[in-house]
Amino acid sequence: MKHIAVLTSGGDAPGMNAAIRAVVRTGLDRGWAVHGVRYGYAGLINDNLVAMGARSVGGIIHQGGTMLGSARCPEFMTEDGRNSALRTLQQHEIEALIVIGGNGSQTGAYDLHRMGFPVVGVASTIDNDVYGAEPSIGVDTALNIALEAIDRIKTTASSHQRAFIVEVMGRDRGYLALMAGIAGGAEFVVIPEVDTSPEEVAIRVRADYRKGKAHAIVVVAEGAYCNAQRLQGYFKEQHERLGFEPRVTILGHVQRGGAPTAFDRLLGTRSGAAATEYLARGEQGIMLGQVGGKIAATPLAEVAATKKPLDLGLLELARSLNK
Ligand code: ADP
Repeated sequence: MKHIAVLTSGGDAPGMNAAIRAVVRTGLDRGWAVHGVRYGYAGLINDNLVAMGARSVGGIIHQGGTMLGSARCPEFMTEDGRNSALRTLQQHEIEALIVIGGNGSQTGAYDLHRMGFPVVGVASTIDNDVYGAEPSIGVDTALNIALEAIDRIKTTASSHQRAFIVEVMGRDRGYLALMAGIAGGAEFVVIPEVDTSPEEVAIRVRADYRKGKAHAIVVVAEGAYCNAQRLQGYFKEQHERLGFEPRVTILGHVQRGGAPTAFDRLLGTRSGAAATEYLARGEQGIMLGQVGGKIAATPLAEVAATKKPLDLGLLELARSLNK
């Protein structure tokens, strides 16, 4: 019999619960014992583990967030922290760990793998910035929530002939802003990957107004230089000169909280099940993610070392569609 543990780490993402459920139930099916680690790597360091049975993952597939809890754990980034994590795993006689999380979490998983502990990663983050996963678990739900908000804002913006700035999540990545912008028919998209000045945004909004458009929606990523706060300050300051001041909506954590879409539930389930399948075959030191529609393994070394590029052709597309 094998004894495994599963944890969720970093930013929570809708669909993580489906992945936990699949890990637990397919693991039990193989005759293994499964422990859940509470609050990510912090739970490993603090020895916060719970035994998982089939019932402990009942009624969670439709819920966003993660039933195991998640955390950012700076201590795990130190050698001492990682050594205590390893000690906990050894004390419980756990033979393999499944890490469900984003880029940072997979880098941590790679560290444990390099220390000789068997680890399998599962790509899950709304940022869609993990190499070896297109998309990662949570992206589809977050995108649909952002889109719904943009659609609603557009309705009120049209009624009042207003410009709106909508800020979506993405500390370093413009993926969500870009995709939500294209799918929501935004007039302009601002992402961290491409320098944009507040003046440029003002020029675009004014041009839209002159074209006779009933509204102008600018979607910005929170990590862009021109995020909602900076644009708000700029427009306030320049109000008299410009003659208009857009309204600002920051979606923030609303984007994470929703019930996972069918896509994310299925992706979470398939990825979680694949994690125990690969472990059963003796494969580890890998991360599982969707590649070309199938769940595929990428070495954790490659995941940790590779920055996933954003297709900037899509920004061109977004901008060319505003006529
Ligand atoms: P995400 O996994 O969503 O990208 P973070 O980047 O915050 O979220 O990472 C989550 C956790 O993973 C961190 O709090 C830390 O414990 C661990 N981690 C992140 N980066 C590293 C790293 N370079 N080495 C070891 N552990 C890391």
